[in-house]
Amino acid sequence: MTSNTAIGTGSRLINLKCPACGAEYDASVPNTFCRVEGCNSTLFAQYDLSLPLDKAILKDRPASMWRYRELLPVMGEENVVTMGEGFTPLIPIENLKHFTAGNDVYWKNEAGNPTGSFKARGIGMAVSKAKELGIKTIATPTAGNAGGALAAYAARAGIKAVVYMPKLTPQVFKDECRLYGAELVEVDGNIADCGKLVADGAAEHGWFQISTLKEPYRLEGKKTMGFEIVEQFNWQLPDVVFYPTGGGTGLIGIWKAFDELEQLGWIGSKRPRMVAVQSESCDGIVTAFNGGQSSAEFVDGGFTIANGLRVPKSFADKVILKVLRDSKGTALSISDADMNTAVKEIARKEGMLIAPEGAALWQAYKKLKASGWIQPGESVVMVNTGSGYKYLENITI
Ligand SMILES: *Cc1c(COP(=O)(O)O)cnc(C)c1O
Ligand SMILES: [Zn+2]
Repeated sequence: MTSNTAIGTGSRLINLKCPACGAEYDASVPNTFCRVEGCNSTLFAQYDLSLPLDKAILKDRPASMWRYRELLPVMGEENVVTMGEGFTPLIPIENLKHFTAGNDVYWKNEAGNPTGSFKARGIGMAVSKAKELGIKTIATPTAGNAGGALAAYAARAGIKAVVYMPKLTPQVFKDECRLYGAELVEVDGNIADCGKLVADGAAEHGWFQISTLKEPYRLEGKKTMGFEIVEQFNWQLPDVVFYPTGGGTGLIGIWKAFDELEQLGWIGSKRPRMVAVQSESCDGIVTAFNGGQSSAEFVDGGFTIANGLRVPKSFADKVILKVLRDSKGTALSISDADMNTAVKEIARKEGMLIAPEGAALWQAYKKLKASGWIQPGESVVMVNTGSGYKYLENITI
């Protein structure tokens, strides 16, 4: 057997396209974001969705995000770096039903992913594609979970990982990076400061950077949450999806997934209302949404217990705001104290130790239910993006 017997995934990837200016890029070489003068948009992977594809193919597929391989960007099976990420459960609210009366409310619980968060999806996809493209060193800024996921997937792929993380991140996020063999740099600053240092290091050493939405394939991993929500709803769609928004990859990815499924004819034109939830300390999207703006300002109010939400300005702010408006959704911010309360409430009543980012969604749900924005009869999905076990030093018991 020689290497040219490699098995294809059946991926229908065509190329990468800029949703802002329409420029197209060859996906068989490494790419970042749109290089057209003044554009700088995130690039979207495009697939050939015109050929029919039968849902029945899913029947014998693995219970991981790779079950949707035709709609994923990796071409060769030998490049798929997987530890079972994805196909996470939808878990209904069980004992807090007095808050949810009239609604079916579910957690899409990402806590069981490798490295304890949904970052395993995006990073698993980016590392797989990087392996396919022959990349040897990957660097990323991180608020915590992306660093751990990169360190783990890079270890498995035999790629070197360099991670820049704010000093104020809980110790466990640092320890896991070192345990997985990544080079960890602790930075006196926020994730934006880390991003600048990664860019400098990349320019100097030739590292490939996978900063949120400046690399096209993390989005493709996170989009699988959208496929799963639809499949788990038996090809219907929920009425509302709550998403804790930092860089916004998952929100944009879930929306992209719905589009692709409609183009395949697997769903119709119904869409959920998308709700972006942020930390009060870092709520540029909420302010821009409420102010009717099409882009967000840089906002950093400092430490928040939801470190995944300490993103002063998303690189894809315009896309996030467009998704919120196109979906007739909304945006709101939650205080650290309220997130802490919700972590405890969900632990004690539902038996789930969720991340503060996920806990913010529960408070947001209660607010929107009380205001009447959520109507009786509507079904709701809240994406609990990570495990609370990694945040214990941030939580006041
Ligand atoms: C990274 C992260 C987020 C934010 O995700 P984006 O898709 O970048 O908005 C939310 N929650 C957790 C636990 C995270 O690790
Ligand atoms: Zn462009």
